Amino acid sequence: MRIGAHVDSADPLAEAAARGADTVQFFLSDPQGWKAPKPREDADRLRAADVDLYVHAPYVINVATLNNRIRIPSRKLLVGHADAAAAIGAQGLIVHGGHVNSGADLTVGFDNWRKTFAYAAETGGFKLPVLIENTAGGDNACARRLDALARLWDAVGEYEVGFCLDTCHAHAGGEDLLGLVDRVKAITGRIDLVHANNSKGAFNSGQDRHDNLGGGTIDPELVVAVIRAAGAPVVVETPGGAAGQGADIDFLREQLGGSPAA
Ligand SMILES: [Zn+2]
Repeated sequence: MRIGAHVDSADPLAEAAARGADTVQFFLSDPQGWKAPKPREDADRLRAADVDLYVHAPYVINVATLNNRIRIPSRKLLVGHADAAAAIGAQGLIVHGGHVNSGADLTVGFDNWRKTFAYAAETGGFKLPVLIENTAGGDNACARRLDALARLWDAVGEYEVGFCLDTCHAHAGGEDLLGLVDRVKAITGRIDLVHANNSKGAFNSGQDRHDNLGGGTIDPELVVAVIRAAGAPVVVETPGGAAGQGADIDFLREQLGGSPAA
C-alpha cells in the first residue's frame, strides 16, 4: 500500500523523506493562478526516484463551466499540466470535478467535460491518467454527489478517465463513507487514488476544510475502511506539515499493516 502526502513543490523528495512517505502529491504552479507550469530542473531526479508522484492541477481550473473565458483557458491549462506531469514521470494528474454557475444547466457542464477529453484527444490525448476528484461544496457541482458523478461518467465514459476519492469532500459533500467505495466503483469502475483527510466541517456542510485523521467529524476507522475497500494509493492532504502528516501516515500504516518506506 503506497501512502504519502500533499507537499510543498520546492523539493518533494525531501518532503517525502521527512514524512516517511513513499508517495507525494504537489502542484506544478500556483494553485490559484493561470500560469502554465515551467519545466522542472529536478525532472530526472523525480523520474528516477523510488517515490510515486502525483500532480494536483490548479484550483482555478473549471472545465465544466459555461463561461468560455474560464472554460477554454482551463482545458488548455489542464493539458499543459498533463504534459508537465508526464515529464516528471507522475502517475496521475488530479483535477477537481468543477461546477456550473447557479441557474446554468448541469447537463452542459457534463458535456463540457466530454469536450475537454475530446479536445485533448485531438493532440493524442492526455499524456498520463487524469483523475477527476469529488468536491465538497456547491449546488451545481459535477462530482459532489454520486447522482451527478453518474451523469459525468455517462458523458466521459468513452475516454479513459480516472477517479480520485477524497474522504473529507465526500463526507462534507453529503455522501456517507460507509459503503461509498462500492457505490463509486459501480459508477466509475475504478478508484485510482484516495485523498485520506478528516473533515472540520460536519456531514453535508459543503465545507472543504481538511483535518488530521484523528481530528474532525469523521470516525478515522471509516477512512481506513474506505482505503481498504478502494485498494488504491493514498495521499493525505492534512495540516501540520511534516509532523502532522507524518503522524497521519503512521496511523494509516499501523491500521493497514503496511511497513514504512525504506
Ligand atoms: Zn483532495
